[in-house]
Amino acid sequence: MTTSAERPGPHRLWIAGVAVLAVLAAAVTWFVVGRGDSGADVPAAVPTTTEPPSEEQLLAGAEAVLKARASALLASRLPQYLQYVDPENQQLRQRDQQVFANLRKLGLSRLSYQVDTNWAPEVQAQHGPSARALRVLMQLQIAGIDSAPRATSLGYTFAERDGRWLLVDDDDLAAETDLSAYREPWDLGAIEVARRPGVLVVVPAGERPNAERLAREAQPAIPIVRSITRRAQAGTLVVAMADSRSMSGEWRTGGHPAAAVAVPNFAPANPEASEFKVTGSRVVINPEQRTRADRLLLAHEFTHAAMEPLGDRAPIWLVEGFAMYVENKLAARDEYQDEIDDQRRQLLRDKIPALVVLPIDGVFHGDYDEDSYGVAWIIVEYLVSKYGQAKVNALYADLAHGPDAPAVREQVLRKHLKVGETALVAALKKYDGPG
Ligand SMILES: [Zn+2]
Repeated sequence: MTTSAERPGPHRLWIAGVAVLAVLAAAVTWFVVGRGDSGADVPAAVPTTTEPPSEEQLLAGAEAVLKARASALLASRLPQYLQYVDPENQQLRQRDQQVFANLRKLGLSRLSYQVDTNWAPEVQAQHGPSARALRVLMQLQIAGIDSAPRATSLGYTFAERDGRWLLVDDDDLAAETDLSAYREPWDLGAIEVARRPGVLVVVPAGERPNAERLAREAQPAIPIVRSITRRAQAGTLVVAMADSRSMSGEWRTGGHPAAAVAVPNFAPANPEASEFKVTGSRVVINPEQRTRADRLLLAHEFTHAAMEPLGDRAPIWLVEGFAMYVENKLAARDEYQDEIDDQRRQLLRDKIPALVVLPIDGVFHGDYDEDSYGVAWIIVEYLVSKYGQAKVNALYADLAHGPDAPAVREQVLRKHLKVGETALVAALKKYDGPG
């Protein structure tokens, strides 16, 4: 009944950290290999100059290819899309054609590519002397779902052949930590989709019934999430793939993989793409849970998805308690009213009296993982019954904005509730249900 669903940890910080380290490492590689490359190791099959291309030539060539491919995909012109792909690399062409078909199925309203110049080009001599692997940010917006484009990183290798720049490989950087953390659903073979108001579900080919089931399950979840969060997303992408690579190993709650995760969508916050902002969220379901995930799990994750753009500094008890509150509201409305009442009674009897402080972020997913979610739910239910939904949502927005220092949190509590943590915990112990 309860989900052990969890949002990812400090995803944003993790991305930024990896990028900075890799820029330094890649710059060194460029320098060393670039100098050694003009020697005698150039494959004999390439009769042209041994001079590596200038970075300007490389970037101009790559940008032109990417721009043409983006417009070909948006216009559904496969021949033009494949025109810039190495004609001798049949495996690449097949993969690329599958990605084209998959992205067409998703229905994109915008698509663009940008070479990520925060990374130095990497020599890929196996594809010829001019071949360089580049980091590319693909920005795509799904029609009717995303309110802004979302960026995802690719590693594309470009080479000059007979005076033309071509895409010659797409996996030369695939082993790098950030690129191998998880795969996009459209990179995992043929997909099918189901679309209903406010939701688009992606599944592997052959699993259409599950896509339709999930889209149906989402229907009662969407309005209750909107009415409680008072935040409207145009829609949510739900990823329910069979391939374990659709989830990152980092997406865990406590000691176990999450059942589902609301993953923030990032887009560059400046033209040079050195900073990113959250533009929305998608929901990724653990492959092992994909046929079991139901409206309650979706309500929980959609709540996270709706709240994530507010910031990631809210205390975990509020983040999880809020999602549990929405989930349990839906459960009580459905057929679980008695179970919800039993759970509440048990938590009020056994867990709430033992509280000394509000649940602490660092141990939330520790020894009493399952109880943490229940306790957090009771706290949020108490706050809503005592102060009203609007006040709780304003408190959430303020705390999510941060900073997350204890003194700041205490100040924000007092601003919205007129009491601090100690008085709040004391009052909570007198709570006996929503009445
Ligand atoms: Zn959660």
